[in-house]
Amino acid sequence: MLLHTYNKNEKKQLTKNFNLNEFHCNCAYLECSQTYITEELLVVLQVIRNYFKECIKITSAYRCFRYNKDISGAINSQHLNGFACDIQVIGVSAFEVQEYLIMNQRDLNITIGRYNTFTHIDVRDELIVFDMRDKGNK
Ligand SMILES: [Zn+2]
Repeated sequence: MLLHTYNKNEKKQLTKNFNLNEFHCNCAYLECSQTYITEELLVVLQVIRNYFKECIKITSAYRCFRYNKDISGAINSQHLNGFACDIQVIGVSAFEVQEYLIMNQRDLNITIGRYNTFTHIDVRDELIVFDMRDKGNK
């Protein structure tokens, strides 16, 4: 895994369609000053972007420990180490995005989390599909 570390105030185009400002932690804590992103996650995101040819909204990528706790994220969340992001493909239902990802999971080499209105992807070593739909999650 190739892990990039950026400063939270840094500006950078990371791939053709993704900018660093989309990956920062959503908190406003002063001590949250760095952003971690794996290269593998960026590659997969661009592949998904190229497939759907629609904008991808990243609703949550890197999270610092404090912010992850604030939003009741999993204690061992892949967002904490820059391995994960939650996405919405504009104009495409979360269901459709998830079906595509599941069909191509081995090629993409990702774990997929199914939520009602967004999709979690991460690049941990195992290929898992977990389903959080209709469990009170938005
Ligand atoms: Zn933070």
